[in-house]
Amino acid sequence: MASSARTKSSKRKLTHSKFHKPPKHLRRGSYRADDSFEPLIIHRVICDCEGYHYDHQSHADYFDIPQLFEGDSKASALRGESPIENTDEYFEQYKDVVLALFKVYSCNAYHDAVEHKFEMLRAPKNPDVEALERYFYRLNEDCDSRTPQWEELVIVSEDLQNEIKEVTGLFVERVLTQRQSTEMDAIVNGLYNYSRRIKRAGDEVNGRSREHIANFIRWVEIVFRNEYEEADDLFVAGRVAISHLPKLFGPDEIIVTTQGDQPQAYVVAEYPEQNDDTLEIPCYTWSFNGRFWRKHTNLVVKWPFSEDEVSIYDLSTYPLRFDESMRQRLLDRGKTFWQYRERRFVSYSPANSPFEFQTVSTTSSTCSRLYDLIYT
Ligand SMILES: [Zn+2]
Repeated sequence: MASSARTKSSKRKLTHSKFHKPPKHLRRGSYRADDSFEPLIIHRVICDCEGYHYDHQSHADYFDIPQLFEGDSKASALRGESPIENTDEYFEQYKDVVLALFKVYSCNAYHDAVEHKFEMLRAPKNPDVEALERYFYRLNEDCDSRTPQWEELVIVSEDLQNEIKEVTGLFVERVLTQRQSTEMDAIVNGLYNYSRRIKRAGDEVNGRSREHIANFIRWVEIVFRNEYEEADDLFVAGRVAISHLPKLFGPDEIIVTTQGDQPQAYVVAEYPEQNDDTLEIPCYTWSFNGRFWRKHTNLVVKWPFSEDEVSIYDLSTYPLRFDESMRQRLLDRGKTFWQYRERRFVSYSPANSPFEFQTVSTTSSTCSRLYDLIYT
């Protein structure tokens, strides 16, 4: 595609050589949350390389919006006028590119959309030119640019990837606006959980070095606004849909499950894994057998319902913050337990025991809340 990227028009000079930075207006993101959020915008053309497209590149990147031009044939590739010959090398060269927003276009879909604009030229009868048929079509004017099939925000900086992992608990290299994988589902659900968690806690992602993270989260919230607001509305009403189930569970969330007749509180350790209608939540609780020890387990939450949407309390496991009466019940039970222990084992009074939690936990506030809820 690189060779066909040049149009015959002399006016259309390539404005950016291999490593020349594009003008600022080309770099600015359409989802700019504020002035500091300026991902490098790259227009990516993908092609299935079949039929008339057999000699096209499977993908090619440009600084400008790709299109077809006057004089093109059906053999022409969708292309821009400012190609990036090697995007990875470009990122190596320009270390200040932290985020890149790829707008992805299909060469095949574009050709289909403008098919009617081609003029069919007369082909000779002899020799047989069937193999050259694609050249006997001509565009008599430039075609319009089209909206991208999807967008993809790529976190170019490894430092930023590491910071996002540290802050959110999620490893994110890219976020696609088109959801096509369980990996992408996990990221979008996890980022929802993270963004709502910091809002509930009244926290912000602090520090100058974390501005990019805050902007990244805002970008995700804008792109997935409909989905996130649908989840917000359901959860406020105490309901959950199967598509939003993983959004309920994130690190440090205190959850409650019923084992036998007794409810039991746990803390979510990591984001859940979803397989079809089953969610597996890595979590832990504290057990006491003379001394405290952290008991790790994976809780499994199934969706046995025929409905797509149910009450949160119908789930076998749910966040305790939705159930104030359950929280009170667990607290009362905890008090009874400690009164009992204090009578029998003076040396294990609750005032001394939490020391062990705090030495092993990085989230002592969550642990101490859990501590109050657990009696065994
Ligand atoms: Zn193509």
